[in-house]
Amino acid sequence: MVAEANELIRGSGHELAAGLRAGAFSSVELVEAHLAAAERDNHGLHAWLTIEDTGARAAATAADSRLVQARREGPAVLAGLPPLLGLPVALKDLVSVEGGQCTAGSRILEGYRAPYDAHITERLRAAGAVILGKTNMDEFAMGSSTEHSAFGPTSNPWDLDRVPGGSSGGSAAAIAAFHAPFGIGTDTGGSIRQPAALCGIVGMKPTYGRVSRYGIVAFASSLDQIGPFARDSRDAAALLHAVAGRDERDSTSAPVPVPDALLALAASDDAAAGALRGKRLGLPREYFVAGMEPGVEARVREAVAALEAAGATVDEVSLPHTEYGLATYYIVAPAEASANLARYDGIRYGRGRRDGDTLSNELATRGEGFGAEVKRRIMLGTYALSAGYYDAYYLKAQKVRTLIKADFDRLWDAGFDALVAPTSPTVAFRFGARLADPVSMYLSDACTLPVNMAGLPGVSIPCGLSDGLPVGLQLIGAPWSEAGLLELARGYEAITADAAWRGLEPTQLALAGDPTQPSPAERAAALAGAA
Ligand code: GLN
Repeated sequence: MVAEANELIRGSGHELAAGLRAGAFSSVELVEAHLAAAERDNHGLHAWLTIEDTGARAAATAADSRLVQARREGPAVLAGLPPLLGLPVALKDLVSVEGGQCTAGSRILEGYRAPYDAHITERLRAAGAVILGKTNMDEFAMGSSTEHSAFGPTSNPWDLDRVPGGSSGGSAAAIAAFHAPFGIGTDTGGSIRQPAALCGIVGMKPTYGRVSRYGIVAFASSLDQIGPFARDSRDAAALLHAVAGRDERDSTSAPVPVPDALLALAASDDAAAGALRGKRLGLPREYFVAGMEPGVEARVREAVAALEAAGATVDEVSLPHTEYGLATYYIVAPAEASANLARYDGIRYGRGRRDGDTLSNELATRGEGFGAEVKRRIMLGTYALSAGYYDAYYLKAQKVRTLIKADFDRLWDAGFDALVAPTSPTVAFRFGARLADPVSMYLSDACTLPVNMAGLPGVSIPCGLSDGLPVGLQLIGAPWSEAGLLELARGYEAITADAAWRGLEPTQLALAGDPTQPSPAERAAALAGAA
């Protein structure tokens, strides 16, 4: 049974969906296998902040009744079932699930219980997906390593001494470790794509406005987007399809139809590869930033060569304002965060000090409840918005943001289908390597931030290994082009289906399940001691 369970959890979402429909196994069996893996590895990986086994079992039982009923009613009914029915999904711990904890990785929200379901939670429930629990993250999604979680770091299953990326590192590690085929993250400057790259999975940041953020803890409202993690592009597309679309409770969610093409990505490798022919891709030269590891650059250039060999044309292009992406992001995002985080006053949410007068209670609550990175952002943002500096910093950053967007628009107008770039300049780094120097942490997202600044969709897909660690290839598209981007991703998967690295699993997965091994927090402490 253990061997079978280990095999079962390695299936992709679409394979498992087919197995459920055929009655090869039940959703309860599937969910038990995933829960067992998540529970076994959580000491060694710390990907999960909560595992909701009772709720998951109930949802699996409900999914099984729908499956049994549909099998009785015949193939047409069976085929019409939602693609996620009975399949486990991991939620970043900033998604509201009614009655469940929602810490956003922060002490200040410890003990807070969400009073309602987020829009995407409702959607996932309606689709019959099984919510397994909530995953670890950098506090309020500020970070690139998940080391800023108030509840301790998450390890990367490829090397337990290294970070999984961030801020959605828990979801990325969980999907890479086969705890679920589907995961949800949020991406404000790279927090889905960068951890997807560092953990060797697929992660997509959709177009700004594609997915309703109702019920999601806000970081920077003009940048935040919810998106899918999966181990292949078809699964990422199915998950995006399930959660996307207009919702009246989030005025920034756009009334743009969600393409059914997301559910129709080619199943056969031949068809998928064929779709690459004639595609026009741009390779932005500014994305090969200083400090990029040679192994990362090599894998990305090999991927470009493979796409060309499959019939795509790739031209070098320029996005001249790329170099301002980081500086403008670190004005705009902290400014918006400082406003969004003003609501954590200790009165309305989570824990709060009650032993003094109102002002000293609030100061004590925020002083104790927020971690150092969050405080840094609140100070940066408050400063940038203050009278006298607003025009010099915030307004100027918004103007540069328009220029960054215009760089991309020129390329879409010139007929490019998508851009190909690295996702992260480096592979996963060791615990502590970037903690002492915030700017080195911020540079982790140099290749992803401009995409958020322009509101565009971007996806990171695995493209091989460097020093035994995963490298991500980023595909960036025009607004609302998610289906086209995932079709390209699917094509790349098809032309590399036989590559040796495709068959490899995270190399330290077995160690993660060994209870005698140190926890991620102990590993981080040991590395800090050695430094
Ligand atoms: N690493 C970036 C930051 O710290 C992006 C985080 C994110 O996308 N949520 O702000």
